[in-house]
Amino acid sequence: MSLHLRYAAISDRGVVRQGNQDSVFAGSHFIAVADGMGGMAAGDLASAIVINTVARLDVPPPPDSVVDELADAVADANRAIRRCVADDPQKEGMGTTLTALWFDGEWFNLVHIGDSRAYRMREGGFEQITVDDTYVQMLVDEGRITAEEAERHPQRSLLLRALGASEVEPAFQTIKGVVGDRLLLCSDGLSGPVADADIARTLQTAASPQEAAESLVQQALDAGAPDNVTVLIADVVAEEPGEQRQIIGGAAADARLAESDTAVLRAVRDEEEAAEEDGESETEELRQPKARRKGRVWRTVLACLIVLALAAGGGMWWARTQYFVGVSDEGNISLFRGLPFEVAGYRAAWIEVDSGRPAEDAVDSVEAELEAGRTADGREDAEDDLAALTDPAAGNENLDPLCVTAADGAESVPAAAKDCRDD
Ligand code: MN
Repeated sequence: MSLHLRYAAISDRGVVRQGNQDSVFAGSHFIAVADGMGGMAAGDLASAIVINTVARLDVPPPPDSVVDELADAVADANRAIRRCVADDPQKEGMGTTLTALWFDGEWFNLVHIGDSRAYRMREGGFEQITVDDTYVQMLVDEGRITAEEAERHPQRSLLLRALGASEVEPAFQTIKGVVGDRLLLCSDGLSGPVADADIARTLQTAASPQEAAESLVQQALDAGAPDNVTVLIADVVAEEPGEQRQIIGGAAADARLAESDTAVLRAVRDEEEAAEEDGESETEELRQPKARRKGRVWRTVLACLIVLALAAGGGMWWARTQYFVGVSDEGNISLFRGLPFEVAGYRAAWIEVDSGRPAEDAVDSVEAELEAGRTADGREDAEDDLAALTDPAAGNENLDPLCVTAADGAESVPAAAKDCRDD
C-alpha cells in the first residue's frame, strides 16, 4: 500500500531578525528545512542554495539508490555553497543546516546535519527523531550537562557540523511511515523558544497540518521569536490528499537569491560537465563516495564512540567562523575568532584585534563577562561590541568611571584614574 503526505509549511522572519535566513520546501515526495547562518547576507543564500538544490528530489525516489541520490544532492548543495565562498571570501563562514525527508510511499529517507529538528507524533507518543549536531548535545552525550541545562546553555546554538564545511558527513536514517503519523520539521527558531510539551500538545490537537503550522509559528512569535521560525508539518495519510502545491518559503523564495542560486548551480554543473568531457575527475570524485559510503557507516559508529574526535574534527571548522570579545594574554580587551572555551581539551581561539585597553578598566560585571568571552553574532557584531566596550566617551557604562575620564584625555586626570591605568 502506498501512503501519501498531506503537508503545510510556514517560514516567518520572527520578531527580532531583519531578514529570514531559513528556507523551506514541501512537496508530495520530499520535504526539507534549512537554517542558514553567516553575516553579509550569506546565511540566507546558503539555505536558499541548499533548498533549491535538493528540491529536485521531489519525485518518487529510485528504489535501489535512494541514499546515494540523497547524498549526491547534499554533496552538490555543499559544493555550490563552497563555490560561493571561493568566489567571494566575504562570505566565509556561510553555512546552513539541512533536515530533509524523501518519502517513497512507505519509508522516509532522512538526511540531517545541524540543529534543525525532525519530530514525530505517533499515537500520542511524541519523539525527536534527529540528534542535534551541537556543542551542548555533545556535552549532554558526554553526561556533562543535562538536557534541561542544554536548553538554557549560553552556547546552545553553537553548531559542530553544518553544510558549507570542507568535510560534510550528514546523518542518514530510514523510518517507516505509518498512517496517522504527524511529522514536524522545524528550525531552532521554533524548538528554542517553544517547549517540547507545547509542541507535542499542538501536534496532538491541531485538526490539520495547516492549523498545526499556524499555531506553532504563533507560539514562537508570542514567545518573542528571537530567531527566524520555520515549521513544516506532514501527515501520513492513506487516501490521496488531492491537489497540493509545492511550497517554497523563506530565503529560497526570495527572487533575488533564487537568481544567484541559479547562477551558482549552473556554474557547478558546467564544471561537472567539463570534467566529464575531460573524461577524468571531478565526477569520478563525486561517484567515489558510493564506494566509500560503506566506510561511512563504520565511521559513523566510530564517531559515536569517539565523541572527542568528533568534537575536534567537526567543531574546528565551525570554530573558525565564530567571533567573541575577550581578554588577550596581555590582559587587553580583544576581538577573537574562535570559541571562548576549550572543545574537548582543544583551545580554538585566534586573536584578531587587540584594543590595547586593559580589561581591568571594565566594570566588574563586564570584566567577568570578558574573562568568559562575550560571544557575537558574526565579525561585525563583535567589532561593534569591541567599539562599544572601549569607547572612551564619558558615560560608557562598561568602563569604570575614572578610567573613562582618563582615556578621554580630560585636562585634569585624577590621580586615582592614573592608578587604574597603571598595571
Ligand atoms: Mn535559527
